[in-house]
Amino acid sequence: FNNDLQRSEKMEIISELAASVAHEVRNPLQVTRGFLQLLAEKQENSDKVYLNMALEELDRASGIITDFLTFAKPEVGNVTTLDILEEFIHIEGILVPMANLQGGKITVHVPNNLFITGNSSKFKQAFVNIIKNSIEALHDEGDIQVWAYVEKDQVYIHIKDNGEGMDQAVLERLGEPYFSNKTKGTGLGLMVTFRIIEVMNGKITFRSEKGVGTEVTIRFPAAKKPEGTSEIILLKPTS
Ligand code: ADP
Ligand code: MG
Repeated sequence: FNNDLQRSEKMEIISELAASVAHEVRNPLQVTRGFLQLLAEKQENSDKVYLNMALEELDRASGIITDFLTFAKPEVGNVTTLDILEEFIHIEGILVPMANLQGGKITVHVPNNLFITGNSSKFKQAFVNIIKNSIEALHDEGDIQVWAYVEKDQVYIHIKDNGEGMDQAVLERLGEPYFSNKTKGTGLGLMVTFRIIEVMNGKITFRSEKGVGTEVTIRFPAAKKPEGTSEIILLKPTS
């Protein structure tokens, strides 16, 4: 009779359930948002206030799904060798448009042949949460640099922004559930991220200065290149 095994099986069932609920709930949320928006645009009277409040609450619900589960797939437990470059090509595709909307830019320098062990969906979830925070911290001339390398059997990934930065009091509370300084924040992003990195045997550290910016460093034990894999060939210019 193994209690630990039972526990982890239960956890797996719960995360599978959460993942499928998130996917199912997202569509009706989006449709409802569209209709409310149409109504809000037509209204001139005080009903407009209520409609806008309803829109904000819907956005909050979507924010929770994004911070927790954007990439969660029903097969949550699937652990493989991850190619960091491949992962970041996907992450970049999602975040570059978001950064551009804020008038900022993201530069990603990840070389070939960096491998770690973990779950691809969760890896993406963690890094999207970290980089999304950087994007949300940007003001004019926003700039985010992402780079990675291997050193002494550890894969290092750095994310550096020139956003608003944090003071010591904020740094100490990172990862606390519902800790947020944003009007539309969930305060769940880093909690989820810390948990994912811990499960993947990684470490995350923050260095930040108020008014200057933030540098996040994440390291994972390096894995061997899986046999029989071909190199990724970049089809876009890397200037
Ligand atoms: P949320 O983004 O919903 O507020 P998070 O857990 O992702 O929740 O982040 C918690 C808080 O940490 C943010 O509200 C913000 O104050 C701070 N924070 C995290 N990353 C950064 C960053 N790169 N620059 C400035 N502040 C940050
Ligand atoms: Mg966040």
